[in-house]
Amino acid sequence: MPVLDTFGRPLRTLRVSVTDRCNLRCHYCMPEADYTWLPRENLLSFEEIAGLADLFGDLGVDRVRLTGGEPLLRRDLPRLVSLLAHKPWLRDLALTTNGVLLADAAGDLLSAGLHRLTVSLDTLRPDRFSRLARIDALPQVLAGIAAAPRAGFPSVKIDTVVSRGDNDDELVDLLEFARSEQAELRFIEYMDVGGATGWRPDVVVSRAEILARLTDHYGPITPIADPGSSAPAERFSLPGGQVFGIIASTTQPFCAACDRARLTADGVLLLCLYAQHGTDLRRPLRAGASDDTLRRLVEAVWQGRADRGAEERRQTRDRGVYIPVRTLRKDAHLEMHTRGG
Ligand code: SF4
Repeated sequence: MPVLDTFGRPLRTLRVSVTDRCNLRCHYCMPEADYTWLPRENLLSFEEIAGLADLFGDLGVDRVRLTGGEPLLRRDLPRLVSLLAHKPWLRDLALTTNGVLLADAAGDLLSAGLHRLTVSLDTLRPDRFSRLARIDALPQVLAGIAAAPRAGFPSVKIDTVVSRGDNDDELVDLLEFARSEQAELRFIEYMDVGGATGWRPDVVVSRAEILARLTDHYGPITPIADPGSSAPAERFSLPGGQVFGIIASTTQPFCAACDRARLTADGVLLLCLYAQHGTDLRRPLRAGASDDTLRRLVEAVWQGRADRGAEERRQTRDRGVYIPVRTLRKDAHLEMHTRGG
């Protein structure tokens, strides 16, 4: 039986951030000029990650997603993939990447046992990409998306954070691109999680607005029923049959079904994207705590979980930036790029 939190939500998914570094500086995640980084000596080794993952597996986790920062910046990442891919408790092993380094890595990731890939892509326009991500890397990202099916990945997902005035005029272009790549696109509402120091409510393009605009262009859109799913994306079908998703994290949060724990690259367990504090697993692990002690620690922390950050934020009046820059500077764990988005 999976372990349940105070709302009866099971622990099923583990998101592991393998590095807090990133080679892009996207406006909704890393808009500042400089950052406080995790000390390198604190980063968990692949063996430490795989060992901790086993404890989560004992408690009911059967899905793991590798994130960052940009996970492909972590040297020799396929070795971690292969350590995890052979776990008997694992049903789904996925990776979220910005795609810049994917073209060269896709084959090795598949051979190592990775099941699924999600690539972030917010625009198809090179000048816009350079402005929004502060580096000129769109050709590399597109090459990465094209390389994934060639390497043998059966399907690729593309994640697009939509923000008003930045890329909300590209909804149709991005869907057409996804269709041409046989990828499934998910539009994500701009969230005010740590790191989003430029967030404003009026910049959010809501699920309702995305659907209205796409209906104007394509005609009636059909929701795809997926009862019992804990996946954050709602899926829809266009009149021609193309399927896409919307992750309405800001206007229609899905905390009630959230089964996700997050492990930062330095071994801090977070129970929510909005969590202000975590539980350090690295110190007891490196101090020699037994597997049983660590497993009981994770179990107790999950059983005490009452997090529903996005729902609470939705009820906030005069909603603005969640965590000010001066606070983020003092604790890198509050940053979105540290906790894996
Ligand atoms: S805000 Fe927190 S509890 Fe809600 S869905 Fe996101 S991670 Fe889960």
